Amino acid sequence: QAKQAGSNNFQFYSPEYSAETRLQRVIEQQLKSALRNSTFHLCYQPVLDVETGRIVSVEALLRCHETNIGPDRFIPIAETTGIINPIGRWLLAEAARQHKAWLDHGLPLIPIAVNVSVVEFRDRDFPNRFEDTVSEHGIETNALQLEVTETAVMDDVEHAIAMLSRLQALGVKILLDDFGTGHSSLAYLARLPLNKVKIDKSFVTPLDKDKTSRVVTNAMIALSRTLGLEVVAEGVETEGALEYIRTHGCTQAQGYYLGQPMSGADFEHWYWEKGQHLQNTGDLNCNVR
Ligand code: C2E
Ligand code: MG
Ligand code: MG
Ligand code: MG
Repeated sequence: QAKQAGSNNFQFYSPEYSAETRLQRVIEQQLKSALRNSTFHLCYQPVLDVETGRIVSVEALLRCHETNIGPDRFIPIAETTGIINPIGRWLLAEAARQHKAWLDHGLPLIPIAVNVSVVEFRDRDFPNRFEDTVSEHGIETNALQLEVTETAVMDDVEHAIAMLSRLQALGVKILLDDFGTGHSSLAYLARLPLNKVKIDKSFVTPLDKDKTSRVVTNAMIALSRTLGLEVVAEGVETEGALEYIRTHGCTQAQGYYLGQPMSGADFEHWYWEKGQHLQNTGDLNCNVR
């Protein structure tokens, strides 16, 4: 037990370990229990083409019923405890299963973008596991896309380039997540094998109120386009933010204004009720009326 906890194990025996550490231990147990009881599930949030209303893809977002905290907080704990590895394996298989189910139910091919943790990304075996999962489920490699954060990539740029090239060679699109938050150097960005960047929601959500966000967003859109990359704005919550990105050269958007994260079944309903209408009319604002 102590050995498994690695370098933090002294905390078990310290009478003074902090409330924060105790909370982390509770969450760790909840995550283990969720794995044992298979109570993790994925939600799917649409990414839309802002010109045509077409559904470009969906992003898979992890949910855990056994804890009331969100992935922003429990993923880091899963990473330090190593629980992220079995979770990540389950995630890929679940996304592949869902993709197959949607196709069987008559939906068109809608790629599912899966978030890859920095811990999974360090593992040189990841591309092989990815390939195995895809072939076991009988889906195309372009049915899944991978989101890696700027921080994960900058952790070891040479490793990142090698990993991303291998994955891209399989036909997978690579997305750079949380763009703008990770201090990546422009020189490296140009060298990375990427297909798309996702402008972080901390810049996008306040676009209609905040001048600095507008300036930074413009620069990120221009840079992405110069590098020949697709660009998506995440965290679009208002018509104003949508209008802003649409008139400043960003062609894709994701956010509560356009579609919430939904269960696989709810997404299917959403597709038949709203998604098809969006594609036919291109009227994104109809979504909220
Ligand atoms: P992310 O990958 O950048 O995901 C986007 C987050 O923004 C999601 O939060 C999503 O629900 C939220 N979001 C979407 N639209 C809006 C909006 O209009 N406004 C605002 N304020 N937020 C919006 P969520 O699901 O809580 O996930 C948070 C983070 O946790 C993710 O950020 C990602 O870093 C991590 N995460 C989530 N699922 C997974 C997973 O399956 N694997 C890994 N490794 N990380 C995950
Ligand atoms: Mg993401
Ligand atoms: Mg993001
Ligand atoms: Mg994030």
